[in-house]
Formats: sequence, C-alpha cells, structure tokens
Amino acid sequence: MKDIIIAIDGHSSCGKSTLAKALSSALKYRYIDTGAMYRAVALYFLRKGMLEEPIDKSALIRLLPDIHVEFEYNAELDRNITNLNGENVEEEIRGVRVSQVVSIVSQIPEVRSMLVAQQQEMGKAKSVVMDGRDIGTRVFPNAELKLFVTADVEVRADRRYSQMMDNGIKVSREEVIQNLKQRDYDDENKGESPLKKAADAIEIDNTHMTKQEGVDIALNHAIEVINRE
Ligand code: C5P
Repeated sequence: MKDIIIAIDGHSSCGKSTLAKALSSALKYRYIDTGAMYRAVALYFLRKGMLEEPIDKSALIRLLPDIHVEFEYNAELDRNITNLNGENVEEEIRGVRVSQVVSIVSQIPEVRSMLVAQQQEMGKAKSVVMDGRDIGTRVFPNAELKLFVTADVEVRADRRYSQMMDNGIKVSREEVIQNLKQRDYDDENKGESPLKKAADAIEIDNTHMTKQEGVDIALNHAIEVINRE
C-alpha cells in the first residue's frame, strides 16, 4: 500500500468537496479545500473595500504577505475549519458576497502563486485529497490519481440552491444559476491556470448519479492506484 495524492478538479458546485471529504474519511487522508483558500483571500479584500471598481491590483498584491489562511481540525464537527489570520471564517466565506467576487481574486497571478506554493507544501506528506480547479494541472501535475468532476449546470444550480436554503442563505434560484454560469466562464477563461481536465484525469460526470455512486466510483479508482505496484 502506498500513500498517494488525489487531485480533484471540476466546475463549481459539482460535488467535488463532498466527494473529496468522503474519500478522505474512507482512506484516512487529509482533505484540503483549495477553494476555501481563495475565498478567504477574497474575504480579506472585501472587508477592506478593495474589490470595488476600479480595483487597484498592485495594492492587493502588496497586502498578500499580511494574509494567513490556515485549516484547523474541529473534532466536534469532524471537519476542517478555515481560519483567516486566526479568525474562523468558515461560514462567511461560503456566502453570496464572497462567491460573487472570488474569481476577481483568483485571476491574479500573484495570489495564485502564493496559494499554489502553500498547497504544494501541504501535499508534501502525501496521503492527501485536494480539490480545486488546477490541482491536477498545476499544483500536482504528478498526482497519482486525478479526478475531473462535472455535472450539468442546471443540476448543479438546483443542488447549490437547496444547500443554501438549508443553510438559511436567502437567494433566488436565478441568482444561483447566473453566479454558477459566470464562475464557469471565469474559471475556464482565466489567463492563468484555467480550469481544464488534465490529459490523464478520469472524468466523473455525476449528473445522473447519487452522491454514493460517485463516491464508489472514485474510491474504486483510489484503491486500485494505492494497491498498484
Ligand atoms: O471550490 P469553490 O467554489 O469554493 O472555489 C471558489 C473559487 O475559487 C472558484 O470559483 C475559483 O474562482 C477559485 N478557485 C481557483 N482555483 C482553485 C480553487 C478555487 O481559482 N484551485
């Protein structure tokens, strides 16, 4: 049995993080949600009012050394909590305000370089499941297992909408669809590390699958790679 890196990429709200969490708990691997890192950086600038037009990118870049994003394991919740400069921002980074501006921040090359370096450091010990948009293409091009997860945009919007309703976040279904379409477009067209399936990634389209079916497929691939000579 060898320790591996599992890189999971895909569109927004396609179930990447659900899949990543299920894999990490089945394999006793560490789970790293790289989207949370971009979201925390976006929140930092949002709070400073620096993401309103016209955006001064040089000013944002100068402040990067002041931003420290860390994950802390919460035993009660049995999951990682995202901390921004020592403050628990787990809930705030999931809200609509951050979702609307995160792609501004994630398109800045200096932001990406800083976070990619931290992610590579976190993966050094292997036994890690990391999800995002460029994990198999940029962060870990040599990951032993790469999964590319996708689903139809309408199905993703419905899942996201009911998740937000469950969490008491007030939003219309139309807003959710528009936000998702915009994020897909931004992710696929950003100059640096655009979202694309790595040549050696296995695609899982879960439009017509239950969560468990997606997890079973991914877990079978992981076990096969872990046990391979
Ligand atoms: O995965 P999640 O939807 O939380 O990611 C939030 C945003 O962070 C994405 O819309 C994308 O713009 C950005 N992101 C990225 N690269 C990653 C992870 C997330 O650009 N590896």
